[in-house]
Amino acid sequence: MATLEISNLSKHFGRFQALHDISLTIADGEFLILLGPTGAGKTTTLRCVAGLEKHEGTIHMDGRAINSLTPAERDVAFVFQSYALYPRKTVMQNMAFPLEARQWDKARIENRVREIARLLAIDGLLNRRPAELSGGQQQRVALGRAMVRQPHLFLMDEPLTNLDFVLRVEMRAELKRLQSELATTFFYVTNDQVEAMSMADRIAVLNEGVLQQVDTPENVYDHPANLFVAGFVGSPRMNFLDCRYDEGARVLAGDTWHVPLQAEQLDQLRGQVNGGGLVFGIRPEDVDLNPAAPDNGWLPAQVYVTEPLGDRTIVDMQLGDTSVKVKADPEFAASSGDTLHVRFDARRFHLFDKATGEAVL
Ligand code: ATP
Repeated sequence: MATLEISNLSKHFGRFQALHDISLTIADGEFLILLGPTGAGKTTTLRCVAGLEKHEGTIHMDGRAINSLTPAERDVAFVFQSYALYPRKTVMQNMAFPLEARQWDKARIENRVREIARLLAIDGLLNRRPAELSGGQQQRVALGRAMVRQPHLFLMDEPLTNLDFVLRVEMRAELKRLQSELATTFFYVTNDQVEAMSMADRIAVLNEGVLQQVDTPENVYDHPANLFVAGFVGSPRMNFLDCRYDEGARVLAGDTWHVPLQAEQLDQLRGQVNGGGLVFGIRPEDVDLNPAAPDNGWLPAQVYVTEPLGDRTIVDMQLGDTSVKVKADPEFAASSGDTLHVRFDARRFHLFDKATGEAVL
């Protein structure tokens, strides 16, 4: 178990700055997921922690500065996207390898490998070679090889990327269970927001080498700190509509719509909005859809296309010049061009400063 404290971490590759002043603390036994699009700097961050890259800033593990330690001295286990198993060795030999390198005696190695293999449910596969295993089994062997020596900290770089969808979902649940069973600190990197939402204790969102928000999955989803986080987390992504604050009428107004503001929202907005542009954000599940307009506040909009997904239907609506995605029931049916009515949930929208991207509500 280990705490990890990253302070003012910056990384340059020549003139290109890949990481900008990242500070992040990971608690003992925490499952922290670094989430961001491709090129965000996730692997570079992990490589700095592992001791594989020179960098600016300090990294402490359990309160001790580790900047000057070699990768081996850091006692971290790195699990990569590619499993990199030895093809000619059996599962037992693959998993035993890190312990042989540490000169453990044979009986102790065998006990330890069997113990971890049981935990990962691969104890029936110990005599097979990697080519005789499924992708998910290979992934578990790679994890097992990292786990046998009880590292203080696991660094995992998109370890589930190469698995098919079904296996990935299965491994997500297994990894989460494993992490809580081992009570070991996990620092895990992915560009898959579902993976992050479903497994992490906290998510750190990274974009272009800049940390955007560090928070619980619930808060990242319900209270995104800025436009980037709001747009990156959630599928389909949040709808964004330009709007302005009409203080006299106490509404947020777009080109063809307006949303009334509650007293506490007005209080929060006071002093925050200086006449600049705003972006109204509303998630597809927070837009209601109705063929008629039962009361005030419903806006006529045209169906552009429907996407039936089995458990729900995504409806693309055209509202004035803007398209708005709505999450509807699976049995929802409409044809392109139909006029329906939409209503934004007046308690579940988000508001961002258009110039800075920061959340203002
Ligand atoms: P992905 O999800 O695609 O793996 P990532 O978030 O892990 O992306 P990094 O691999 O950390 O991103 O790369 C961050 C940035 O640094 C990218 O723009 C990349 O091109 C650049 N970069 C990474 N390694 C090097 C290197 N050795 N030399 C120059 N630039 C590099």
